[in-house]
Amino acid sequence: MRQDETPAARRLWLRNPLAILAEGAGGGLVVQGSRIAERVPVGGAPAAPVDEIVDVSRHVVVPGLVNTHHHVFQTLTRAHPAAINKPLFPWLRALYPYWARLTPEAFRLATRLAYTELLLSGCTTAADHHYLYPRGLEEAVDIQVAEARALGIRACVTRGSMSLSQKDGGLPPESVTQDDEAILADCERVLGLFHDPGPGAMVQVALSPCSPFAVTKRLMRESAALAAAHDCRLHTHLAETRDETDYCLSVFGQRPLDYLEEVGWLTSRTWLAHGIHFDDGEVARLGRAGVGICHCATSNMVLASGFCRTCELEAAGSPVGLGVDGSASNDASNLMEEVRHALMLNRLTYGAEAITHRDALRWATEGSARCLGRDDIGRIAEGREADLALFTLDELRFSGSHDPLAALVLCGASRADRVMVAGAWRVIDGRPLGVDPESLREAHGRAARDLFSTS
Ligand code: ZN
Repeated sequence: MRQDETPAARRLWLRNPLAILAEGAGGGLVVQGSRIAERVPVGGAPAAPVDEIVDVSRHVVVPGLVNTHHHVFQTLTRAHPAAINKPLFPWLRALYPYWARLTPEAFRLATRLAYTELLLSGCTTAADHHYLYPRGLEEAVDIQVAEARALGIRACVTRGSMSLSQKDGGLPPESVTQDDEAILADCERVLGLFHDPGPGAMVQVALSPCSPFAVTKRLMRESAALAAAHDCRLHTHLAETRDETDYCLSVFGQRPLDYLEEVGWLTSRTWLAHGIHFDDGEVARLGRAGVGICHCATSNMVLASGFCRTCELEAAGSPVGLGVDGSASNDASNLMEEVRHALMLNRLTYGAEAITHRDALRWATEGSARCLGRDDIGRIAEGREADLALFTLDELRFSGSHDPLAALVLCGASRADRVMVAGAWRVIDGRPLGVDPESLREAHGRAARDLFSTS
C-alpha cells in the first residue's frame, strides 16, 4: 500500500467548477492522496466526508496537460539571429557550435526554466528529449530528475544520444557526441537509478537517439533491446522534413520508416516526434503497430516542415499527442498555446468542422499520456492520478465568451491559475511554488548570454 492510500489521506473537494473536462463532474471532484477519488455530479455532494473544500467556481478544470517532446536546453538559444528564418538542417548547423558550450549549470537553469514555464501553462507531465552530451555534461539525466523532483512536475526524462558526427557524415560536431559504449552504459545506469515503470510514477526514463540517422544501427537495435528489458519507452525524431526522406533514400536506399522497422523500433513501445512525411501505407503500418506520434504544431509551422496527418494516424490506431518541441524552434514552452496552434493548423488541413477544441485538448491530455505509455494520467476519472490544470477566465481576452471550455482554446488561454500534480498544488494564483521566477529569469538570461560570449 502506498503511503497516500492510507485511510488518513486527506480528502479535498474541488467544488463547483465553472466548467470541467470530465463527464458527470459538474459538482467537482474529490482528490484523496495523489489520486482522484470521486467525481461529484451537478448539485451533488461527495459520498464521504471531506477534510477541505476549495471553491473552484471561477475555474475551468482540465486534466493536467502532458508534453511529449521538448529540448529544454534550447531555451538558452531562443530567437537568436544566427538561427531564425531558416529550415531545419541549416538551423541546426547554425546552433550546434553554441550548444557545444553547454555547461551543467546552464543546463540545470534551462531545465528549471522550461519545467516552470510548462507548469504555468497547465502542464503536469513533461517529456524532455536531451541528446547533447558535451564533455562535462555526462550526468544530464541526473540534473533533469533533480529539477523535476524539486518542482514537483511529473517527468519522462529521455536519455538521448548522437554517435555519428561530422567526421561520419552527420550534422553535429564531434564534441557533442559519444560512442556507443558510453551511451549504452549510461542508459543502463539511469534506467537503474531513476526509471519507475509502475502506476503513479513521478519519474520515468525513456531511450531516445536524436534521430535514427544520428546514431549507428547497432545503437538503435541495442536501445530497443534495453527498452524491452527495462520496460521503458523509445523515442526519436522521424519524418520531420522532406530533406530527411531524401537523405535516407540516398544513403540507405530506404524511406525513414523502413529503416525504423529494420532496427526493431516499429512497436507500441515507440513514440515519434513530428511524424509528418508518411504515405498511406506507412500510416497504416504505424497504426497497426501502435506507434505514438507527438504532433508539434508550432514547431512544424515555424520551420515550415509540413502537415502531420493526425486524423489518419489516429484512425489507423496510433496514439496522437502534442509537444512544444525545442524552445529554439517554437520559441515558447507553453503547452496550452500549443493546443490552440494544433487546433488551427489541423483546421487548415482538415476543415473548420473536422477539428474541435475538444479534439485539441484530447491530444494534449489522453493522447499524450498514451504516447508515454501511461493510463494513470491524462483523464479526470476515479483512480487516475490527481493531475489538474485550473484556468480562470478573468482576463480581457475571455470577456464576452460563452462556452468556458471552448473559450480556453479559442480565446487563447496561456497561463493556469492553479496546477496540481499527484494531489499537491504546484501553482497557486498563477505563481509556481518553490521557485522565484524573477531570479530564475535573471540567472537563465545570464547563462544564455554566456553561451554566445567570445571571452
Ligand atoms: Zn525535437
